[in-house]
Amino acid sequence: MILIEDVKEQIKQNGALSVTEDAIRKAKESREYNIFLYISSDRAIERAKKVEAGEITGRLAGVPFAVKDNFLHFDGETTAASNILKTFEAPYQAEAIERLENEGAICIGAVNMDAFGHGSSTENSAFGVTKNAYDKERVAGGSSGGSAVAVAKDIVPFALGTDTGGSIRQPASFNGVVGIKPTYGMVSRYGVVSMASGTDTVGALANSVEDIEIVMDIIAGKDEKDGVTYDNYFKPGEKFEKKKIGIVKEFMTGDINDDVKDMVYKAKDIFEKNGYEVEEVSVPMIEYALAMYYVIVPAEISSNLGRYDGVRYGKRAEAKTLPEVYKKSRSEGFVDENKRRILIGSFVLSSGFYDAYYEKAQKARTLLINDFNKAFEKYDALIGSAVLGPAFKIGENSKDPIKMYLEDIMTTSPSLAGIPSVCVPVSKIDSLPVGLQIMGPQKSDSKVLSLAKIIEGNRNDG
Ligand code: GLN
Repeated sequence: MILIEDVKEQIKQNGALSVTEDAIRKAKESREYNIFLYISSDRAIERAKKVEAGEITGRLAGVPFAVKDNFLHFDGETTAASNILKTFEAPYQAEAIERLENEGAICIGAVNMDAFGHGSSTENSAFGVTKNAYDKERVAGGSSGGSAVAVAKDIVPFALGTDTGGSIRQPASFNGVVGIKPTYGMVSRYGVVSMASGTDTVGALANSVEDIEIVMDIIAGKDEKDGVTYDNYFKPGEKFEKKKIGIVKEFMTGDINDDVKDMVYKAKDIFEKNGYEVEEVSVPMIEYALAMYYVIVPAEISSNLGRYDGVRYGKRAEAKTLPEVYKKSRSEGFVDENKRRILIGSFVLSSGFYDAYYEKAQKARTLLINDFNKAFEKYDALIGSAVLGPAFKIGENSKDPIKMYLEDIMTTSPSLAGIPSVCVPVSKIDSLPVGLQIMGPQKSDSKVLSLAKIIEGNRNDG
């Protein structure tokens, strides 16, 4: 398990170039997991040399990292794991990458994901599935599957991901790493391929809570180029005051695996031993969160994907007329799941159905936010699993979209409420990791991470 601190020590001893070359070698050797879509050898090595020459400095000078391929990055194509962006070379970099590079970090490449972020397994990538770090017959999770496996396989100490409805937390749970979906607006999304603008967030995955704190502290904060961002309110080490935690009742019923429930009770014991009062609490509207999510998010997706017409970005299909160019480029460029969401989204936004679906879902979302706020009056934080069970087998859910959507049942409600949610490994079930989800009120990201540290310090998952 590599940590940023260890990497910094290696840089001190062997130099940044050797550490970067080592990470690139490991990335190349990991081909059987299908993690990297692109390895940035030349640019990364050039930057490592500059670190050695003292021309690049900062808190992460020489520390390698990877980005999900929906972050615009220099050197190579940014594809969002789709065919339509296969030839797209970004003219600028995502703000989050820029901030890390300003602190000297070295981006060694871009990793696999479900195309445009649509999925929970990385099986929807146009470039093949990413394999789970613990069992190659199982999925990495998604959509930030590549980011989670790159960290779990110790190729890089941290990776950037995006989370719109669970895409950082679920793969973090499946691969035994820590992942944060921050408060909506904590981190700039400038230069990140949009999925659903109302819940898209940029977060990180790492092997320790402390490393997550280091990365988030660097990438958080106001950016004029993303109007929803806040000034940096993040204070690593900050703690909650009430010392009361609620187990979300709605997350302990339904299809959830019994061993996963035990994992939540184990976390309860850990918190109680650390002086917290833990009890079950109902957040009633959570029951409808998945239904709201799969109306609101496809609606925003259908609008955001409208820009890919084969003319402005990426790959253009051969055709005789302009309408044919659009049709063929989009038919060939999107995977089935992208198309399904365009159809659902266009339907729920169409006149005659807008009031019945989209508007109703947005009203329900407000009630969900109210329910969360009510719970946070009494409790510092809420906990529950992030997943129904450990990583599933490749192919198990891919033929059944509804079954795949049900995978997101615990992660979509915090996304709709815009609240921070961290997934931290607790235990293993049949040698496969599972993580606890910890949620707090908006802007309590640093406090939520302090709770994750308590679990991390007491976990016993071998
Ligand atoms: N699995 C969810 C979906 O398919 C979440 C995706 C995400 O957070 N990018 O919508």
